[in-house]
Amino acid sequence: MAEVLVYVDHVDGAVRKPTLELLTLARRIGEPVAVHLGAGADTAAPVLAEHGAVKVLTADAPEFAEYLVAPKVDALQAAYDAVSPAAVLLPSSAEGKEIGARLAVRIGSGIITDAVDLEAGDEGPVATQSVFAASFTTKSRVSKGTPVITVKPNSAAPEAAPAAGTVEQLAVTVAESSKGTKIVSRTARESTGRPELTEAAIVVSGGRGVNGAENFPVIEALADSLGAAVGASRAAVDAGWYPHTNQVGQTGKSVSPQLYIAAGISGAIQHRAGMQTSKTIVAINKDAEAPIFDLVDYGVVGDLFDVVPALTEEVKTRKG
Ligand SMILES: Cc1cc2nc3c(=O)[nH]c(=O)nc-3n(C[C@H](O)[C@H](O)[C@H](O)COP(=O)(O)OP(=O)(O)OC[C@H]3O[C@@H](n4cnc5c(N)ncnc54)[C@H](O)[C@@H]3O)c2cc1C
Repeated sequence: MAEVLVYVDHVDGAVRKPTLELLTLARRIGEPVAVHLGAGADTAAPVLAEHGAVKVLTADAPEFAEYLVAPKVDALQAAYDAVSPAAVLLPSSAEGKEIGARLAVRIGSGIITDAVDLEAGDEGPVATQSVFAASFTTKSRVSKGTPVITVKPNSAAPEAAPAAGTVEQLAVTVAESSKGTKIVSRTARESTGRPELTEAAIVVSGGRGVNGAENFPVIEALADSLGAAVGASRAAVDAGWYPHTNQVGQTGKSVSPQLYIAAGISGAIQHRAGMQTSKTIVAINKDAEAPIFDLVDYGVVGDLFDVVPALTEEVKTRKG
């Protein structure tokens, strides 16, 4: 069976969920071979094997941390040369997309970014994308070279499928031309303790209806009761009520969680563009005519300051 390279996103060997989703999707088109760069391969390997990696190719080099993505592209290309895969899958993060794009240029292949689903096809893997502010769903196939495909988080539920996960060292030579951009400093972002917005299984977002930064804790309390990330509409962000990093939409982040709860958000097309592919959508809005109700699975017509705290209490009670 053809091998499929899966680029591993991890923090010191702690494998992030989007990679497990990639392994699950990779099994539809071949045998997953994970590429783990940096420290922590010993920690990562059993997790990757549990989710279907037949092999784990690993390399560590100081250049991975000292320079921007190019040394990692060298390593992924070394894995590509070693395996001759049927496809290369990466997470649709900013870094994943840049590494994927650079690899595609180097190996003369086509690339598909931001896929939301993947299936085997007679002439190669077929990727589903949600395009034009999520108003169209397209299916595409790379017609030149080995398909390089980046997949959005939450596009598949990770499934266990134990495989050998044999760890093999990958010989990597970092090219001088890959050392063009050196990282000069790093500042850790202050942690909120909440999941990363684009990866969260549940997102609770607030809009102009939240009516002030001082009221956002109402949204945060519901998010925390559910273990969710907090999002915001552009109106709320532009008003300075919540950080831009939390904006959902066309000019913010794209999310595709299992559950998206929108409170005090009207449902403008630019907001929808960032959340329309969510599996289940719930809206709380006091205006029964708000356009967001056109796309919801469940809608509550009511004041968010009554509904959201009541919902938070109910979630807490049920969780015991
Ligand atoms: C180029 C461009 C890019 C854009 N990019 C984005 C983007 O990335 N993300 C984004 O979100 N927007 C984006 N916008 C803006 C977008 O068009 C809307 O203006 C914005 O989404 C509106 O935010 P909102 O729904 O919070 O506010 P509003 O449209 O003002 O809606 C507020 C809603 O809250 C309800 N409400 C008020 N009080 C309460 C209450 N107490 N309880 C319950 N409901 C209440 C109201 O009934 C109303 O429906 C973009 C616009 C442009 C032109």
